[in-house]
Amino acid sequence: MERSSQRETRSFGAEVQQLLNIVVNSLYTDREIFVRELISNASDALEKLRYLKITQKNIADGELPLEIKIDLNKNEGTFVISDTGVGMTKEELIENLGTIAYSGSKKFVEHLVQGNERDVNLIGQFGVGFYSAFMVADRVEVYTRSYKQGEEGWIWSSCGAGTYTIEKAEGITRGTKVVLYLKEDAQEFADQNKIKEIIKKYSSFVPFPIFVNGERVNTIKALWTKNKNEITKEEYAEFYKYIANAYDDPLMTFHFTSDVPISISAILFVPEENFERFGLGRLEPGVNLYSQKILIQQKCEDILPKWLRFLKGVVDSEEIPLNISRESFQGSALAARLKKVITGRFLKFLKEQAEKDENKYSEFWKKFGSFIREGAATDGDFRDDLLELMRFQSSKLEPDKLTSLKDYVGRMKEEQKVIYYLNTPSRDMADSSPYMEAFRRQDLEVLYTDDAADDYIFNLIGDYKGKKIISIDQENLELPGPLGEKSKDEVFPKDEMEDFKKWLKGILGDKVSIIRESKRLVESPAVVLNPEGFTGGLQRAVQAINRELGMKSLKILEINFNHSLIKNLNILRNKDEQFAEKIAEQLFDNALLAAGFLVDTSTMVNRISEILEKAVTSIIID
Ligand code: ADP
Ligand code: MG
Repeated sequence: MERSSQRETRSFGAEVQQLLNIVVNSLYTDREIFVRELISNASDALEKLRYLKITQKNIADGELPLEIKIDLNKNEGTFVISDTGVGMTKEELIENLGTIAYSGSKKFVEHLVQGNERDVNLIGQFGVGFYSAFMVADRVEVYTRSYKQGEEGWIWSSCGAGTYTIEKAEGITRGTKVVLYLKEDAQEFADQNKIKEIIKKYSSFVPFPIFVNGERVNTIKALWTKNKNEITKEEYAEFYKYIANAYDDPLMTFHFTSDVPISISAILFVPEENFERFGLGRLEPGVNLYSQKILIQQKCEDILPKWLRFLKGVVDSEEIPLNISRESFQGSALAARLKKVITGRFLKFLKEQAEKDENKYSEFWKKFGSFIREGAATDGDFRDDLLELMRFQSSKLEPDKLTSLKDYVGRMKEEQKVIYYLNTPSRDMADSSPYMEAFRRQDLEVLYTDDAADDYIFNLIGDYKGKKIISIDQENLELPGPLGEKSKDEVFPKDEMEDFKKWLKGILGDKVSIIRESKRLVESPAVVLNPEGFTGGLQRAVQAINRELGMKSLKILEINFNHSLIKNLNILRNKDEQFAEKIAEQLFDNALLAAGFLVDTSTMVNRISEILEKAVTSIIID
């Protein structure tokens, strides 16, 4: 093979440079992952080619066998991996190995740059696995030629420091060869036994022969076509690692086959972790679509609803014509049927899991509940099933226990007509919330939610199995029974109530829409309530985006006229009006805080200081 004299030097995209900095310069314990990443790329390239061979005629070097070769040379300190896959054109080389296109991958790089370098072993899950080669090599060369007829061969070369070169190469056949010049401290990766061991660990499901220095090291098996009873837990875990580029074990494994109404075999995995939870960007769909063991489409978008994008695995259906194009599958009746059947079966599986092992399901819910909520909020087709899968904390249960709507309804008292819930930022706030006073008095259970999506879903559905769902921070709340005896001592003079409310409204102005007497408070002096359909949870969500908008007041302030503070405040306003105003403002801020809203803390701190000073001085003078 000859090198041409025209060598072009180019710079990596900014994100690639950042990534390489971390990959090249840090020390890792699991550097061996590069083997898996390069094999996975070779395997992807081969799967693409196998599919193209069915759909297209003009494939360069059509007679080449589809296989992966790894050649190790201890003397030279090289690791070479070649495949006979689709290869790359010059444009593809520049695009694929010089820039980062996906926003998810960019987020991942950002995450690493922010000091989470240890997570670099997740590299394969974020579409930048190729660069892991620079963990062990101080120079990487890629020889490649596209399957497209008439394309030339190219050599890409880089030391991982800001730039790479590209030049034309003669005499290359279809596919890609990656040459790693191993670093001084990475010579172990030129060792046959070491590499064979690594392949066993991560790549035993690669559907093409792998040869290491001429010796075949894998047998090919399509796990999903095997009988469930013949598959061990370890095999599933291995398969998961292969299919998901993952290093952990799956949290849940669902293997199913069906013949009616449509022939499907599928293995779906719930991963151990949900990376969306850590702000690592939106997950890409993770299920590959096969027909008769041939990969039709990787990371297929059309096979599952968007809200199941956290699942990894394979779906194989013989009913998909092998030569179907991505475009004609997308939006087809077949795609819709597959989606419906697989989603239905998976949700049924989740329901069974929840019944079988409550703790495991709780773990699932904590990590992946956001996807179930997203489905319930956006997908009418599966909403009823998804509602059954939702979990909540409850005022009647320990903080580590969760409950379903169904179980809540099962515990409802006879006279209770509706389902009550409260959204607060934390469990502690829920328990100590003034909204809860009346419910504790009447021994009524309240569901606690901590996600505004729950409020949104409850608003959307309105009721569950004919029982209205009501947020207890709303103004028009009817309780089944009375609050019980009120203490006589604190009774507020009736004829002064109107005047007091007017005075208070004068101070608070637009911060509240209405001030009125409370029928629900016991221990707290005041509470803020929200108009129907705009619960505290939703308002806080808005407030997080736009403070002004969130504070716009539709809030109702209810006063507990049986509270000594209110009675005394009424006396105080005739004695020291200025000080009484301060107390009134603080009373309102306290009510906001108790409801989980933001307040202007600097104003509040100054005000509290004044109040404290006055309190201390008055006690000393007394
Ligand atoms: P990912 O495999 O998740 O897309 P990588 O960083 O591993 O991310 O690879 C980037 C891209 O480079 C691949 O998507 C593919 O287009 C291209 N590529 C890498 N290795 C090969 C190969 N052996 N044959 C053909 N294309 C390859
Ligand atoms: Mg890859």
